Amino acid sequence: MSFNALGLSAPILKAIEEQGYTTPSAIQAQAIPAILDGQDVMAAAQTGTGKTAGFTLPLLERLSQGEPATGNQVRTLILTPTRELAAQVAASVQDYGKHLPLKSTVVFGGVKINPQMMALRRGADILIATPGRLMDLFNQRAVRFDKLEILVLDEADRMLDMGFIHDIKKILSVLPKKRQNLLFSATFSPEIRQLAKGLVNNPIEISVTPRNATAVSVEQWLHPVDKKRKTELLIELINEGKWEQVLVFSRTKHGANKITKLLEASGIRASAIHGNKSQGARTRALSDFKNGRVRALVATDIAARGLDIEQLPHVVNFDLPDVAEDYVHRIGRTGRAGATGKAISLVAADELDQLRAIERLTQKLIERRYVDDFMPTHMLPDTTLDNRPIKSNKPKRSSPPRGDQRSGQAAKPKQHTAGSAKFSGARRTSNANAPKADVTQGQGMRSKPLAPARRNRKPSPAQD
Ligand code: AMP
Repeated sequence: MSFNALGLSAPILKAIEEQGYTTPSAIQAQAIPAILDGQDVMAAAQTGTGKTAGFTLPLLERLSQGEPATGNQVRTLILTPTRELAAQVAASVQDYGKHLPLKSTVVFGGVKINPQMMALRRGADILIATPGRLMDLFNQRAVRFDKLEILVLDEADRMLDMGFIHDIKKILSVLPKKRQNLLFSATFSPEIRQLAKGLVNNPIEISVTPRNATAVSVEQWLHPVDKKRKTELLIELINEGKWEQVLVFSRTKHGANKITKLLEASGIRASAIHGNKSQGARTRALSDFKNGRVRALVATDIAARGLDIEQLPHVVNFDLPDVAEDYVHRIGRTGRAGATGKAISLVAADELDQLRAIERLTQKLIERRYVDDFMPTHMLPDTTLDNRPIKSNKPKRSSPPRGDQRSGQAAKPKQHTAGSAKFSGARRTSNANAPKADVTQGQGMRSKPLAPARRNRKPSPAQD
């Protein structure tokens, strides 16, 4: 199938061509016609599936046909959980809409509000926003929604997990009832379905990634190692392996800073990226990493979300995440665009529970590789595969939106399953001792980070 068949007009097709895309991804092939048709869409798709173009291309098309936005009005609102993702979506909107006379603006917290207020004065055909800053702007009357046509919730599961439900409810309550709704989420958890009930109206449901599948051709293993020797081992791995670029995950901000310092002290250029860093510092760290000035980027889970880093050969879990799903998303940072990536975990004996939870979630035992000089004194006990079904033990922290319930409107979604094969994961039965990850991404896609789902995390976006 080509993009020409999807009903997009010449300026958009030209922009797509300039991006080098030839074939629509599965999510695009399904979502674009439905969105052009004015339908509500509920899509389970992680980053890496081409979801951003999946909603951006058709909404640009629809907006190009209506009246332009005027003073402080917004015609399309795209909500994202993080500033990084907001900036990234805004860049895609610019790219895909560059031959159209549409205005787009991005707003998020952590930077001055005044320039954002100024930018909104002339109105925005597309506004990309994080929920908190959007509410601030709304309360200061800098943004108006009377003319809103389309609402997009991107990475909705993450928004709920980051505790944005109240902001979302407030936002929904001030939007006009008649609008098109597009909801994108890595998974359709019960919480997301609950949110969707009060949001989407008779939606087309699209699913292109299986729940909790790990990413395309990622070789995973773990090094059992004593906690206090982890940095030393990391330095050894980077130096011995002559790794040019590595993304290191740390569970805590403090840990990320400490690892960065120690890497720097050993002569490895490193930067930390986490929620205590200013937006400027995060952007700098990311661009230094991208252009090779920095060899190791040390990130916390939340900060790493939405980072647009292509084709990372190595991802290291300096410590295992408390939330097993985060492991899947962390390792989704590697092994892209046909290349095999390596996801390496440094695991101390006291991380046995996290390891068990990850192996249970991914239904694979992670291969153990011992490093001669780093044999642990505290042995990591053996694990066996627990294949009992996992019950959701997520604490209830939110009720569905009330302000704009639109009860009675939400009908059972129509299921769309066809055509997702290319981007969906044909689970490979793997040798338990040599786990290769499943396929979640289509061939020919340019790489980008996966969208981690968060579970059991304190609902505070400030935590990271
Ligand atoms: P996303 O899932 O939206 O984060 O997109 C993942 C990556 O795929 C981005 O780097 C896009 O530029 C790229 N991409 C999106 N659509 C296509 C396509 N049809 N063909 C090739 N690459 C694409």
